[in-house]
Amino acid sequence: MTSVMTPPSVKTPADYIESVMVSVKAKNPAEPEFHQAVQEVFESLRLVLAKHPEYQSSKLLERIVEPERVLMFRVPWFDDQGNIQINRGFRIEMNSAIGPYKGGLRFHPSVNLGILKFLAFEQVFKNSLTTLPMGGGKGGSDFDPKGKSDNEVMRFCQSFMTELQRHIGPDTDVPAGDIGVGGREIGYLFGQYKRLRNEFTGVLTGKGLGWGGSLIRPEATGYGCVYFANEMLKSKKQTLEGKICLVSGSGNVSQYTIEKLLDFGAKPVAVSDSNGVIYDPDGIDRDKLAFVMELKNVKRGRIRDYADKFKKAIFMPTDVKLDHNPLWNVKADCAFPSATQNEITAKDAANLLKNGVKLVAEGANMPSTLEATKMFLDAKILYGPAKAANAGGVATSGLEMAQNSARLSWTREEVDDRLHKIMIAIHQNCYETAEKYGTPGNLVNGANIGGFLKVANAMLDQGLV
Ligand code: NDP
Repeated sequence: MTSVMTPPSVKTPADYIESVMVSVKAKNPAEPEFHQAVQEVFESLRLVLAKHPEYQSSKLLERIVEPERVLMFRVPWFDDQGNIQINRGFRIEMNSAIGPYKGGLRFHPSVNLGILKFLAFEQVFKNSLTTLPMGGGKGGSDFDPKGKSDNEVMRFCQSFMTELQRHIGPDTDVPAGDIGVGGREIGYLFGQYKRLRNEFTGVLTGKGLGWGGSLIRPEATGYGCVYFANEMLKSKKQTLEGKICLVSGSGNVSQYTIEKLLDFGAKPVAVSDSNGVIYDPDGIDRDKLAFVMELKNVKRGRIRDYADKFKKAIFMPTDVKLDHNPLWNVKADCAFPSATQNEITAKDAANLLKNGVKLVAEGANMPSTLEATKMFLDAKILYGPAKAANAGGVATSGLEMAQNSARLSWTREEVDDRLHKIMIAIHQNCYETAEKYGTPGNLVNGANIGGFLKVANAMLDQGLV
């Protein structure tokens, strides 16, 4: 019922959010991941709209869910047999209120418009939290680099960039890596951009060290996530020392999460890929991590090989008939989901809680379903949502942009120190914002509100654009 204080034409914050959510679903059909990401942010914004009616009267929610620009294009290329292949390319330029669009490129067969819109939407708030001046964007293709030769990957990247280059630039839109896009792909993309535009600029981040890349960028998302987890534990006067940790995935984020966990004296015991899970009760030490890195980054092999090499480890193949992921059913203290979206369902969350997990720090983007997120919040465990916990990657991309603009490169120690301080600042912002809005300890609210306010105020300052 509308309160007596509210004129009939003005909706309550709850009704306003509900009506925008209805329109988001109607205008963006068949994009469940996008709806999910918007819903999660909107839930937190109830608390903000009650204090700030100006966001409602200026239709800020309707504006912030509408991408500034969506690009979708054909990517034709020849495979090694001379056959014609066609993929679809995308770039979502979501919001540039606080800086040039910034966000990764994902090459994975599951990529579609809705997934990239969810990622671009998340990126807006994440980039805002980093303290650096970066807007939000995301892009990619349904191209699958798995099983392709280097030459095929190169031809695909060149074709992809031939179209993308007309839309991006060091002051406009600066893509980076994500799933399926690592150093190799960034190299091919950068080479083609440079050739077509005849300019050497910092148009991509995650570049090679010899040609404009930043030290610590490959490590940054994983390191940053562990720095964030450390801050969460510190708020409870605890440390990572001796904690048993589950890490999903075995790509970029997972590898450097494990490396930093070892630095902090924790014991990582699990990794995975799309074919299955490795559980190693003895712990993944530095030698075993080196094996994983060689297997994944050089040989481009499958994680099951780990169990052939290290006999005490158990391999559990992916079973689509199973109603849960066995990785999240191992007894542990902390969980670091670092593979992909919605990899922790309600059932997985129940298993994690049952097995005594007291901390979840999200390296992947939106790895927990809305139900799982709610269960973590209700259980009042330490829960670091992706847009805060994994912001170290894009923050270090921002540091790469700063070094490129200054035509300088900083030392490993300097970049790592800045990354560490940024993660401390993000945690502090989330922690204090959660308290200020009456939900102490709820870092989901802290991250959503903290990220939103800066972007929303910039949008108001800049008029109706
Ligand atoms: P990588 O491609 O390096 O690694 C991805 C890992 O996750 C692989 O082990 C992959 O297994 C697994 N994986 C991917 N998709 C699925 C799936 N549908 N089901 C099961 N396993 C899957 O990617 P990143 O490490 O860069 O990215 C991982 C996550 O972190 C993503 O959510 C990404 O958006 C997020 N992220 C990454 C950042 C970065 O800087 N790279 C920054 C912030 C967030 P397989 O090889 O079998 O596909």
